[in-house]
Amino acid sequence: MNECLDSKGGIVELLRNAVRPYAWGSRTAIAELLGKPVPTPHPQAELWLGAHPADPSVLLHADGAQISLLEALRADPDRYLGARCVQRWGNRLPFLLKVLAAEEPLSLQAHPSAEQAAEGFAREEARGIPRDAPERNYSDPNHKPELICALTELHALAGFRDPLRTVELLAALNSPALEPYRKMLAAEPNADGLRTLFTTWITMPEPAVKAVLPCTLDACVALLRRDGVCRDFRPHRGSDFRYECRVILELAETYPGDVGVLAAVLLNHVALSPGEAMYLPAGNLHSYLRGTAVEISANSDNVLRGGLTAKHIDVPELVRVLDFSYGELPVQCGEPLGPQEIAYHTPAEEFQLTRLEWAERESTPVLLRGSWPQILLCAQGSVELRSQDGGYVTVPRGGSVWLAAADPEVTVCPVTTPVQLFRALPGLAHAN
Ligand SMILES: [Zn+2]
Repeated sequence: MNECLDSKGGIVELLRNAVRPYAWGSRTAIAELLGKPVPTPHPQAELWLGAHPADPSVLLHADGAQISLLEALRADPDRYLGARCVQRWGNRLPFLLKVLAAEEPLSLQAHPSAEQAAEGFAREEARGIPRDAPERNYSDPNHKPELICALTELHALAGFRDPLRTVELLAALNSPALEPYRKMLAAEPNADGLRTLFTTWITMPEPAVKAVLPCTLDACVALLRRDGVCRDFRPHRGSDFRYECRVILELAETYPGDVGVLAAVLLNHVALSPGEAMYLPAGNLHSYLRGTAVEISANSDNVLRGGLTAKHIDVPELVRVLDFSYGELPVQCGEPLGPQEIAYHTPAEEFQLTRLEWAERESTPVLLRGSWPQILLCAQGSVELRSQDGGYVTVPRGGSVWLAAADPEVTVCPVTTPVQLFRALPGLAHAN
């Protein structure tokens, strides 16, 4: 990866970003994106682009100096973040951009609302739980709405399925062990019924889990034997639950005995194609199962887990923040902002994600306006950024740059096409 800055005097700065080595990560996807050798000796799960205190990006100056983005923001917030951003969020970058590379399922999780996060953080501070303690739920007082945009096909569980369809799935599984739960949900096919059944399962004592879980898996195997394995491995509509059964079996293989596997019976199973995105509001129960994606979220690390992990699980706290409303989440393909740019819309004030694309041999330059802090990530091809004073910087595939709010406008020119460039900025800003 090109880590030297060619810019002459501009404030366009290349970033070096931290790789987080969680066990569910891929040994190829992130290294390939960064042009590094594969496979890597350890899993690489997330690339963090931003100024999260746990792992801030580093600005690479033209003179060879390197400075943590977090320190740069604190030292000169007006220049880096701009007055409007500082007024709203203080000296903090409001968003965090990530590349996620999941080889195995991530934990089953939900994120708190702004009010829940503020209250939870204050409560844990008052109790004196160290911020880095494993049993700490709230590491900061912020909410964490997120948008996930697939780079490869991305499989996920996200939000509760319409309970009437879940009743159908339970009927299709046709297992005496599941019959009481099917009846329970059929009697109350709404958010309250989902709350009751989810809480029953997630708090089930171990002997009960040991009885119900294997029966569920046997029923999935039986269904696949009866209906045949689906070749295209995508969720189907109607009464075809083969995809769901396969996912449940795969989860159980990765996390044997984990009660979180049962949650997969209740959740929407989603497969996003490259370029498709999904917004996950506060309280949405989700787990990314497999694939590579760009994720943008508010700059927070507040996660409440319910299973599918070796990390700290706090079921009562999870159930407290969960939203039991149901139905499929809208899948976004992005709306055109200009000839080269599309935007994914969310209600989040903290972030906005757009994608710029140039087809093969296409060369139209695009002007990006400043006044807000921005991060650009080149996911395909390469581009050159030119500032008005004649400075320029080349951004290779996997490369990223920081555009300070005080930066004058920059022009993006495709170099190696086709190009795919992600652009992250605060949601309050209106891109271009
Ligand atoms: Zn999440």
